[in-house]
Amino acid sequence: MVSRDVIGKPSMPKKHEGRQVLLVEDTRFYSIAVRDRLETQFGVKVTHCATFSALKRELANDAGTYVLAILDLCQPDAPDGEALDYVIARNIEAIVFSGISSDLKRDQILAKDVAEYVAKSSIHSIDDLAAAVDRRLSTTMAELLVIDPDMDQSILKSLLLEGRFSPAIVRNEQEALATLDKVRNIELVLIRSELAAKRGHAFLELLRNRYGEESIRVIGYSSAVGRDDVARFLNAGGDDFFHLPISAEDLAGRLHHTMTLHKQIQVLQHMASRDYLTDLLNRRYFFDRGPKIVDMCLRQRQPVSMALMDIDHFKKLNDTYGHEIGDVVLKAVAKKLMVLVGEKQHLVARLGGEEFGILFAGLDSQAAYQYCDQIRSEISEVRVVVDDEDISVTISMGLANISGSESFDNYLNAADQYLYLAKHSGRNRVFSDYQVTKIMAS
Ligand code: GH3
Ligand code: MG
Ligand code: MG
Repeated sequence: MVSRDVIGKPSMPKKHEGRQVLLVEDTRFYSIAVRDRLETQFGVKVTHCATFSALKRELANDAGTYVLAILDLCQPDAPDGEALDYVIARNIEAIVFSGISSDLKRDQILAKDVAEYVAKSSIHSIDDLAAAVDRRLSTTMAELLVIDPDMDQSILKSLLLEGRFSPAIVRNEQEALATLDKVRNIELVLIRSELAAKRGHAFLELLRNRYGEESIRVIGYSSAVGRDDVARFLNAGGDDFFHLPISAEDLAGRLHHTMTLHKQIQVLQHMASRDYLTDLLNRRYFFDRGPKIVDMCLRQRQPVSMALMDIDHFKKLNDTYGHEIGDVVLKAVAKKLMVLVGEKQHLVARLGGEEFGILFAGLDSQAAYQYCDQIRSEISEVRVVVDDEDISVTISMGLANISGSESFDNYLNAADQYLYLAKHSGRNRVFSDYQVTKIMAS
């Protein structure tokens, strides 16, 4: 298994899809409006409790699932902020959403380890609340890696902990690369400027080459006085830079801003990476991401192989039934491929026409061959019904094992040669190193 999810996101979930948020609110209007807003905008799942006792019942059942609670200060059965204390005592981040206006009260609330306080003054307060929820969920969600040889003494560490970030901390670039390969979902890297600047920022370039422009954001920092390192860092591809000391708010604001941009980049990237007809990943994406997956597999000594798949006699199908029916068949084949291969571990894309590429990560040559043969068999079972007639197609596949570092085109050429053999020996079959070796041995 390849540990880091380098394949990309198959669908476009909402920003905080599936995360669980508690809402403790006794007025009907605000409970409905807040729930609707957060679920629609972020895809979170809001559990509403109208009273303190309902909250206690809910947390007795399910305390581990909540990352965030939004609370009005007073409930009918808890007039003095008891619900807030209860939530904080269970280590759930709390946003107070309340109509209390006096500064004194506000300070008392904030003294209680509350993450944010949003004044409930009008319907527009819900916008402020949504922004606060977004901030909290974004910061707790970002997996953060800090590269710093002296982090234990660093003021940055306490600031991050204060901001409820729990970063992975490494001392140098080698440890950072090992962690990035191992730990999925690190989207933000903080690096001390002396390390970042080593060898003309070669490390930044390496990060971009390995993991892609869109998968990681990098922020540099420094406690030195000189400021000319900022421009150099940003020019080398860094996303932001700050100087220590920095306030906790400033730091959290910068991290949040960078993560917001990061999400936007990912949305754009998603839009640019899909094939319009089949919704599979497209050729551009395959050629961009494929080499990175191969590199990672070779680095981790995981097997990896490249398959090329082409529909048999597709021209004839188009000639017989028309191009539009041809498109319907193409979509049905693509849908089956998506079901069979998915996009978690392997990379599958429509490379053009009726030709598809699959990069199998982490399967040895026998397993990859059997996988291909199963795909071949299952696609031949797909039926498209046109005017009471069942149309089916077969496919041919070439599969090449990747054993050493070469150009990506070379891997494709090798697979193409096997595909050629599969076509010329009768179609509806898979040709590969594995199977050729087996034939020669027998
Ligand atoms: P072979 O078994 O040797 O692969 O025969 P083939 O007829 O499939 O030959 P070839 O791969 O050269 O032909 C591909 C055909 O696919 C030609 C083209 O008309 C058709 N085609 C390419 N893209 C599309 C598409 O988007 N929609 C439809 N309907 N047809 C397409
Ligand atoms: Mg064909
Ligand atoms: Mg073709």
